[in-house]
Amino acid sequence: MSECSRKCGSTAVLKRPKTGDKLCKECFFEAFENEIHFTITRAKLFRPGSTVAVAASGGKDSTVLAYVLKELNRKYKYNLKFILLSIDEGITGYRDDSLETVKQNRDDYEMPLKIMSYKDLYGWTMDEIVTEIGRKNNCTFCGVFRRQALDRGAHLLKVDYLATGHNADDIAETVLMNILRGDLARLSRCTSIITDSADGIPRVKPLKYAYEKEIVMYAYFKKLVYFSTECIFSPNAYRGHARVLLKDLEKINPSIIMNIIHSGESIKVNETSKMPTLQNCTRCGYVSSQDICKACILLEGLNTGEPKLGIGKSSKVKKSLENRAKTCCGGTSQCNSLSST
Ligand code: SF4
Repeated sequence: MSECSRKCGSTAVLKRPKTGDKLCKECFFEAFENEIHFTITRAKLFRPGSTVAVAASGGKDSTVLAYVLKELNRKYKYNLKFILLSIDEGITGYRDDSLETVKQNRDDYEMPLKIMSYKDLYGWTMDEIVTEIGRKNNCTFCGVFRRQALDRGAHLLKVDYLATGHNADDIAETVLMNILRGDLARLSRCTSIITDSADGIPRVKPLKYAYEKEIVMYAYFKKLVYFSTECIFSPNAYRGHARVLLKDLEKINPSIIMNIIHSGESIKVNETSKMPTLQNCTRCGYVSSQDICKACILLEGLNTGEPKLGIGKSSKVKKSLENRAKTCCGGTSQCNSLSST
């Protein structure tokens, strides 16, 4: 390859997918890290002296996130403390293996690690849920439970922030998905770099503008240990379509990823559009747009042998819950019904 575009005198070893620059390894590391530093400082993601839980799956995104945060914290004196927070969904042959990588991250980056499991939190592993519901809607259960599990973990650890490894490709995919679904509520908030969790612990996305391909390159050239096997229960069909579409568009013009994110950031939801109002779930206290949050409804379905409850239309769920309320005992100590809460 030719000389590094930064005229440092070294030979270029890669062409940046994001900018097309031909760079040597060291100049790429510097450019990649500086962009994340710029993202963090411009959005004022962290208050100095804070503790940050890094959502860690063992995959490339969370591994690079933990590594870069540690580097930037040292280099720019953010004065932050980090804890790795992992969720064990109970997927044999996938999560058990990837958790070994997280443990390696814990040792390599000298960050404490907390693992929260679906089995402990909900009484079900994903293996058991898939046995119950099949392979069609498994990602709905998993996604809803994981989001809540991370919030519960952050609350338990009493951290100030929860940092997730969402990258630019993930966010562009989500914008596309929400447009295709006509989901205005999610569209209006999916590009936010900071969002509030149920307990008011902000969730932040330091890799929001980092391209997936560059994250892979960074991990490769830094020789970071990460887990790259796909979940045995994937793919999530709908996101899969958005991903394929995005990858096709990226081949035509790599800046499409940033264009979609910027378009998503600029979309203003018409004030007359009906938006959900947030409240606390009457059963678990988690923030929800309904009286009973999605996780409690899904769990209720699993625990009562009606696993499709919460998967279908919300009107059907409402009807089913109303019927349960009619037959409810009124709230004895043994009662598991939603209506008793
Ligand atoms: Fe969970 Fe689906 Fe992701 Fe597997 S692919 S970890 S089941 S959300």
